[in-house]
Amino acid sequence: MRGIVRVAVPIRHWSLFDYTCEPIASIGCRVIVPFGHRRILGIVVDHAETSEYPEDKLRCVSSILDEEPVLSSTLIHSLQWVAQYYQQPIGEVLSTALPKAIRVGKPLIPKFDIVYRLTDFGQQFDANELNRAKVQKKAFELLKSEARALGPEALRHVGSTWKNALKVLETKGLVTAEPRYTNFSVNGQNLIDDLTESQLKAREQILQALDSYRCFLIQGVTGSGKTEVYLHVIAKVLETGGQAMMLVPEIGLSPQLEQRVQSALGVPVASFHSGLTDTQRHKTWWMALSGKAKVVIGTRSVVFLPFKKLKIIVIDEEHDTSFKQQERVHYHARSVALHRAYSEKFPIVFGTATPSLETVHAARSGRAEILMLPERATRIEMPTVKLIDLSRERASDSLSNSLLSQIKKRIKSGEQSLIFINRRGFAPVVICPSCRWTAKCSDCDARLIFHQSDHQLHCHLCFKKFPMMRQCPQCLSENVHLFGTGTQRVEQELQREIPGARVIRIDRDTTRSYTEFERRLARIQKGEVDVLVGTQMLSKGHHFPNVTLVGILNVDQGFYSMDFRAMEHLVQQVLQVAGRSGRAKKPGEVYIQTMHPDSEYFDCIRDHDYLSFADLELDERRQANQPPFNHYALLRANSLVAGEEIEFLRVARETAMSLPVKHSDRQVRVFDIVQSPIQKISNRHRAQLLVGSAHVAFLMHFLKAWLPHLAKIPKKGKLRWNLDVDPVDFS
Ligand SMILES: [Zn+2]
Ligand SMILES: [Zn+2]
Repeated sequence: MRGIVRVAVPIRHWSLFDYTCEPIASIGCRVIVPFGHRRILGIVVDHAETSEYPEDKLRCVSSILDEEPVLSSTLIHSLQWVAQYYQQPIGEVLSTALPKAIRVGKPLIPKFDIVYRLTDFGQQFDANELNRAKVQKKAFELLKSEARALGPEALRHVGSTWKNALKVLETKGLVTAEPRYTNFSVNGQNLIDDLTESQLKAREQILQALDSYRCFLIQGVTGSGKTEVYLHVIAKVLETGGQAMMLVPEIGLSPQLEQRVQSALGVPVASFHSGLTDTQRHKTWWMALSGKAKVVIGTRSVVFLPFKKLKIIVIDEEHDTSFKQQERVHYHARSVALHRAYSEKFPIVFGTATPSLETVHAARSGRAEILMLPERATRIEMPTVKLIDLSRERASDSLSNSLLSQIKKRIKSGEQSLIFINRRGFAPVVICPSCRWTAKCSDCDARLIFHQSDHQLHCHLCFKKFPMMRQCPQCLSENVHLFGTGTQRVEQELQREIPGARVIRIDRDTTRSYTEFERRLARIQKGEVDVLVGTQMLSKGHHFPNVTLVGILNVDQGFYSMDFRAMEHLVQQVLQVAGRSGRAKKPGEVYIQTMHPDSEYFDCIRDHDYLSFADLELDERRQANQPPFNHYALLRANSLVAGEEIEFLRVARETAMSLPVKHSDRQVRVFDIVQSPIQKISNRHRAQLLVGSAHVAFLMHFLKAWLPHLAKIPKKGKLRWNLDVDPVDFS
């Protein structure tokens, strides 16, 4: 049958393209289509009876690559929603959603390594009967002694003709060959049965909702055993033949997690993240699509994977900002996941001790259910939180005397301390007190940060380095000061104040690779370390059972920030770090150094009462008309030539005001053009224009009308722009 297909092509183009097709390709199949003078790959996203173009002008699909759809129509629906909601070209969304091999038209099924194992017959077989075939015998004996499936890395050592030998063993019925789908061997299910009362209750609530859309928030303190609840629920989903998707923050995805989930559930688990090669991503993608992987764990982009029978999505540490993609296609994985769960009709489970205000708001307005896990599964007390008032107790350096003496106490009793400061480097301000000159990056609107390790000044925005000066370049004074503190300075102070203390620093400078991170974590677990100093890398997911003291420095910056989410992120971080301590047999203590001990925010932190904080903060957001009570989109522009970015936004704003949309506060508000808080990065001058509405539908309607005009504004020189719906980063 001949028909018209609507095709999305993976380029930065906003519309679909109509082609005739015979026989008609199913929705979700890949096709090769003529496009200008080229032939390119596209995805059929719809069928049509008629086209805007006269039918005799329509070109014809050159070839159909797939017999079966690679994307289901519900997933295509979700991808189209992403394109519409985030105002991104559908082709670009598809490019983001598909692994490279699929985008370039490679066969659907990737090549997996083959592993070999003995058959039942092989188990009974006497190796001596293979005496005349040396390599066969060696391979056979190796398989027998290892008693598990072996891959090429083990078998190639039996001799150069190992492949042939195994083929012969296979024809003799001694060995079977199968593709290797997972990195770890799959054994039986191994779930922890000893759930607490509240874990059981949470599990039951979710299990009652399988097969329908419901949104749950498991609000549990660190160590309350959220993961056990996820695993028990997923186990039930698997029993009915369903699959599960699990999203984790960038830093939380480790081979250990994959292995832990696989050994708990006893099914093949695959992972998906940006650190994988194209081939590995293709493998996981196909395993999800074919149903070979029962659970797929991944960072934000896993949310676009096609599944054979997806029946639940879990988002661990739901509040984490790494779920928002900030480049190319701007999307929030949490929102996409919600849309998928809703349209594919299955439950979605968020878990965190410190939910985003968006999610708390959803719960307060009846769109999500909160399941509390109040006690720790390990049944230890929550750490007590104490404030060190820096206005009374001046710290001579970064660490106050009270904090230092607490650390010394811990070292004496063989316990560990963790010092959290969310800034790497030695000192964030290099200043001349005589003339007030400060060291700034030549290419960015940013102060340079002194790094002790290489004695240079670093720009944390463009990563340029500059030599440290002895003299002020402005007044030639030799009295240049290092002001403020970072991880390196704290490390140095500890070594000076507590000679002999074993200090380890964990930040992006010391811990560039995941293996290095793991190496350091292992040293901490083995007790080879007295004090850990680190940035937010320490606040995510890792357990430090022997840490009984947490010191938190430099929290006050949250009070002065222009970003309306600063307090939310601050409180989340403090509670997350606080939760690292006292998880084994001893309860922990948390000391926070601050100039504002009277702030009501600290009451919530002291009581470990995140939801009270969230309600307080939501009240302020409501009064200030900020998200989640208002919906924003941010148009950013930047250019190498100062002024071009402003000029672009000026035209954009003019167009916005002339659109036939009512510009009252009740509909869409177009704010003034402002320079971005960071005015320059890598010599690009930056400015932004915010638009907002109390109703998401009004905003969508407005953006849809506005966007085609933006695309038509003549771009001078090196101007770049992007539109970010629900922006998280306002810098
Ligand atoms: Zn810079
Ligand atoms: Zn000076």
